[in-house]
Amino acid sequence: MSISSEIQRLKQDLPKGTDLVAVSKFHPAEAIQEAYTSGQRIFGESRVQELCEKVKVCPADIEWHFIGHLQTNKIKQIVPFVSLIHGVDSLSLLQEINKEAAKNERIIPCLLQVFVAQEETKFGLSPKECRDLVASGILKELHFVRVHGLMGMASLTENQEQIRTEFHTLKVLFDELNFTFFQNDPSFCELSMGMSDDYMIAISEGSTLVRIGSKIFGHRVY
Ligand SMILES: *Cc1c(COP(=O)(O)O)cnc(C)c1O
Repeated sequence: MSISSEIQRLKQDLPKGTDLVAVSKFHPAEAIQEAYTSGQRIFGESRVQELCEKVKVCPADIEWHFIGHLQTNKIKQIVPFVSLIHGVDSLSLLQEINKEAAKNERIIPCLLQVFVAQEETKFGLSPKECRDLVASGILKELHFVRVHGLMGMASLTENQEQIRTEFHTLKVLFDELNFTFFQNDPSFCELSMGMSDDYMIAISEGSTLVRIGSKIFGHRVY
């Protein structure tokens, strides 16, 4: 299957209100261009240097999403152009993004990453840490970041029911926070969950952003 036919097929799977983030990490700019030509505009990258190199050579109207673990000292490189940062997992990171965003006079949309998997290696806030952070009210003081929702990853397992349970946990937390703290903030509307192997489950559990790489671009060579 070609990149463009995979994208067309995926788009047919996505309900209205769910967007596709084409995860192009480790794939060359030519692959991005092919996806772009078939109409794709949102791309996800997980390494700052790779992202910055691609931005220079790819079409200017691409929306770049940062989906990796962001190191504090690299924030300033992506803040001038990034359109969504998916993996914010601490208040200090959010504060640093806010600081750089202020210098750029931009408001950066961010998602709080919540840990719902059973593995120990995944990054993210626990549901309680996430709830406490939002409840603290401190987000309102960070004028140059806006939390648009939550992001999470399910366990790497064949067990479909476990994956469903983990996505469901994230959706329940999203709905709770939305109801309790964001009633007057329509920009709290994104739930980023689902990858190549589990996006159909994520969609059925309420995902609004699926992050799909290998299904579109093939296997990555690290
Ligand atoms: C690499 C990556 C993806 C895409 O994974 P695929 O299995 O190739 O679809 C999605 N989300 C995050 C956070 C990633 O790092």
